[in-house]
Amino acid sequence: MKAITFHGKQTIQYESIPDPEILQPTDAIVKVTLCAICGSDLHAYHEHEKGLDHGTAMGHEFVGEVVAIGKDVKTIRVGKSVMSPFTTNCGDCFYCNIGLTCRCIYGQLYGWRQHEQGLHGGQAEYVRVPLADSTLMPIPEGLTAEEGLFLGDILSTGFFCAKQAEIKPKNTYAVVGCGPVGLMAILGAKEYGAEKVFAIDTLPERLERAKQFGAIPINASLQNTREVINEVSEGRSADAVMEAVGNSATNKLAYDLVRPGGIISAVGVCTDEHLAFSPTQAYDKNLTYKVGRCPARFMMNELIPIVQQKKYDITSIITHRLSLAEGVFGYDIFANKKDNCLKVVLKP
Ligand code: NAD
Ligand code: ZN
Repeated sequence: MKAITFHGKQTIQYESIPDPEILQPTDAIVKVTLCAICGSDLHAYHEHEKGLDHGTAMGHEFVGEVVAIGKDVKTIRVGKSVMSPFTTNCGDCFYCNIGLTCRCIYGQLYGWRQHEQGLHGGQAEYVRVPLADSTLMPIPEGLTAEEGLFLGDILSTGFFCAKQAEIKPKNTYAVVGCGPVGLMAILGAKEYGAEKVFAIDTLPERLERAKQFGAIPINASLQNTREVINEVSEGRSADAVMEAVGNSATNKLAYDLVRPGGIISAVGVCTDEHLAFSPTQAYDKNLTYKVGRCPARFMMNELIPIVQQKKYDITSIITHRLSLAEGVFGYDIFANKKDNCLKVVLKP
């Protein structure tokens, strides 16, 4: 089959790799009908010189049709159109039972193989899905394939970020980063009742999207973010900051913007060794810092009815619909923010 594969820092190829096979009786094989490039793929792309095995199929955002199942798969059927969270989960361990499906003790992240262990990703013609019954979900009535694709990661992650911010209508909120995840966090904050959401980025076209989604845009390269937010919050700044970038500058900004007793809800993946603020600084603000991977499988259940209502035009953020064969180009424009690229969807 064809796949977009990792071959070292900023080196991605479109090449043939072996078709996946059923390895466990609980596996399914999905023929990918759509997949997407995520900001998380960029961490591997930019940073992992030796991280992933070369030849690993990238990606963890996909939807498709089930073409084969192992003998112990009970509910997922061949021929079904399915969506998947970006990690697999058993549905039965302690973490799955408390809704932290992203920390399932048997969970794996798609598109992450090291020393020949781990899972190939979904930017491919086919993908092997372990624990298929508890990982996959049939795409429900009334949902498009693109909506299913977003539910598996960015929509769930954005709403999870907003949920962790404990939104109250009258309070003041800031979202740092208006990429796909930050934009979904804005919609999540709105859905959970926020009236005042500031959106911070440096790219005008992304700030424009944030405005369309109901946020007040702040261009961090032109405006003093803290001053703008202080003006509407009696000098206190934000009650919660949703961080959707994942570097030390944005983590420090999140710290600077949050009021004493406030919350930083960080979903941006930061690969630094240390936090951007000290224990004393956290103490001095009575800070609540919530960080981590989104339990997408858990969130998907919660969010299906919201997507079914078609309240938000979530897939309007897709700027580029390309073929899988154009995936290398897709990485280049998304990673380098060329051609106003905001979200790339690939069709095998
Ligand atoms: P993206 O790269 O498209 O978006 C990042 C945005 O941040 C861009 O618009 C960029 O202009 C902006 N930005 C960068 N530096 C900035 C700065 N100093 N000030 C203001 N804005 C700045 O990526 P994305 O797809 O939206 O993903 C965002 C983050 O979320 C990534 O780190 C990704 O790995 C992470 N993520 C986490 C989870 C999870 O489960 N926690 C899931 C999906 C994605
Ligand atoms: Zn993703």
